[in-house]
Amino acid sequence: MSLPRAFITSVVGSWPRPTWLIEAFEKFEKGQMDQQTFNQYLDDAVKLAIKDQEEAGLDVITDGEQRRTSFVAFVGQKIRGFKIVRVEELHPNAKEIMKRYKAPLTLWRPVIAGYIEDSVLAVDEVQYAKKVTQKPLKVTLPSPYLIMWEAWHAKISAPYYPRPEDAAEAYVKVLRNEIARLIDAGVAFIQLDEPMLGDLIEAEQDKPDRYKQVASELYGQKYRGLKDEIQLAVDLVNETVKGYTTSVRIGMHLDRWPTEESPIVGYERLAPQLFDVKVKQYVVEYKHPRMGNPEEFAKILPTDKEIGLGSIDVRDPKRVETVDEVVAHVEKIVKYVDPTRIWLNPDCGFAPGMYRAFPRAVAIEKLKVMVKAAQILRQRYWWA
Ligand SMILES: [Zn+2]
Repeated sequence: MSLPRAFITSVVGSWPRPTWLIEAFEKFEKGQMDQQTFNQYLDDAVKLAIKDQEEAGLDVITDGEQRRTSFVAFVGQKIRGFKIVRVEELHPNAKEIMKRYKAPLTLWRPVIAGYIEDSVLAVDEVQYAKKVTQKPLKVTLPSPYLIMWEAWHAKISAPYYPRPEDAAEAYVKVLRNEIARLIDAGVAFIQLDEPMLGDLIEAEQDKPDRYKQVASELYGQKYRGLKDEIQLAVDLVNETVKGYTTSVRIGMHLDRWPTEESPIVGYERLAPQLFDVKVKQYVVEYKHPRMGNPEEFAKILPTDKEIGLGSIDVRDPKRVETVDEVVAHVEKIVKYVDPTRIWLNPDCGFAPGMYRAFPRAVAIEKLKVMVKAAQILRQRYWWA
């Protein structure tokens, strides 16, 4: 299916899960539901997530990450060498620590508890989604730098991988195999989720951001200093995508979910190192008022890169943006970035973790506004 030439619309990844899916998951976990019945719930939820996005009129869709408990924890369920644990197993005071830093992490955590072996991560999701939609598909994969910070534990993982970097390297190998499988499956867009890199805009050279502080305490890791952290994230992604960038569109998603105390600044803070990443598109949160002005990012974006501009808020379900507001938001960057290189998406997934509640009807309304804005922008700036 062909895409519009400019202002392509998509989601970041996750879609609100129906209550019946969450109930089914809980029953399945307690052994009160068999695998076959649970699979039926998962399939139905994916169908619904796809239908919602089609109804909203999006150009590129996902399966809504309905099969994943969270955008990162599912790695613990799917890749051999990982396991999934409650956060208290990583640190008895985990909840108190997360509260102290205002950095809520999902309560089920992936942790490396063995040697990492090649395993299917997302291609099974794609195979099902392709049966129920003709639309081009985006698939999200947790980035190696994220997995390193969120899954390497000084006690549990060190017997297998003495340093976090060693574990990250092993995960990169799995990701590379998975990317090859996803290309074969015909996906339109592979997005590496990199909130741990996004969070670094709140860090200083010698002071970690709040998520690294939490991870240091929970997992026993050490902050390397801002420049080296960015470089490590960049190097790991480049190793992951090497040789694949001409076969499929690869993007990277950055977010940080600002608090009221967060500095007002955007991802331009990570430049110029950020632009050494060999991905085509930066899918970036910029609608949140504390993200500052997307112009600052657009001004310095290299001309061979695309921006997936965060244009819809995913935190406040009480307010739906107006079409004019979204058009004006995107127009801030039109003078710097050619419309063919601008995509529109919400700031983040609507439900990165299973338990994040967001009314589906509101999410659909928000996407419809974004789609309408894209149509107006195409008429205004692109006639093809
Ligand atoms: Zn996000």
